[in-house]
Parts: sequence; C-alpha cells; structure tokens
Amino acid sequence: MTVLINIAIVIGAVIGMEVFAWAIHKYVMHGIGWGWHESHHTETDGIFEKNDLYAVVFSCIAAACFIVGSMGQSWLWYVGLGLTLYGVLYGVVHDGLVHRRLPFPRKARGRYMKRLVQAHRLHHAAHTKEGCVSFGFIWAQDVRKLKAELKENMSRAGKSLQTDLAE
Ligand SMILES: [Zn+2]
Ligand SMILES: [Zn+2]
Repeated sequence: MTVLINIAIVIGAVIGMEVFAWAIHKYVMHGIGWGWHESHHTETDGIFEKNDLYAVVFSCIAAACFIVGSMGQSWLWYVGLGLTLYGVLYGVVHDGLVHRRLPFPRKARGRYMKRLVQAHRLHHAAHTKEGCVSFGFIWAQDVRKLKAELKENMSRAGKSLQTDLAE
C-alpha cells in the first residue's frame, strides 16, 4: 500500500509541477521575471542563457524536498523525486527535442510528442513579453487552437507584437 501511495505522490508531483511551471511561465517569467526569461526568447551566444537560472531555482526546491524528506518527512522525499522526474522530462522535451541544446539522436516521434514540439515552437513565434501562447512544457493544447489564439493576440496587439508566424 505504501508503495502505491508513494507512486501516487511522485505522479501527483509531476502533474502539479506542470501546472506550477505553466503558471510561473505565464505570470512570472512573462511578467516580473522577464529579465531572466528574455534571454530564452532572443538569440544568445554561449551555452548558457540567463533563463537557465530558473532551472537552478527549481533544482534547489527539489534538493530541499530531498533534504527535509530524508529527515523524517518521507512523503516530501517523493515530492522531490517527482520534481526531479519533471526536470528530466522538461530537459528531454524542451532542451532536447525543441531547442536541440542536448545532443539528441532523433526527432520527436508520435503525434503527441510532435504536438508538444510544435506548440512550444509557437510559444517562441512571438519574441515579446506579451502575446505569447502555450506556456506548458509537457502538456500542450491543440496546435490549431494555439495558432488561432496567436493570430488573435497579433491582431489585438498590432505591430507591437513581433512574431514569426506566417500569414
Ligand atoms: Zn516564454
Ligand atoms: Zn523554449
């Protein structure tokens, strides 16, 4: 029984982290935290970008969960495991398949993975703080819906929204 509970905690932490990351991306990174995130929406030189600091912050949260969890709060240890697993999934999908920052041997396969990649490319179609679509990393909406949303944002924002979206 304990094993099942621990698995549920890990899965719950992965799902919870996607919701949390979506909210942080939409409201913090594209808000007050744009100073760090902008580097990810513009071309930068070198291996690292300022935006990677967010990954460092999230890793510290996961590390804190492991530390506190190993001092008696074992459920928190499994939360830390879920956060770490999310970090791995994020790394594979976002840094590997979408941005090709990791040496990945193959392209996205399967309908869902292709949708994830396309959805995040649409997120990057806009280079501005405002007007972006698709803020999730391991869950994405239907690409047609996202394209429609982006076009709507473009017509609302006018010329102030710079996008790569083909008309
Ligand atoms: Zn963004
Ligand atoms: Zn990205």
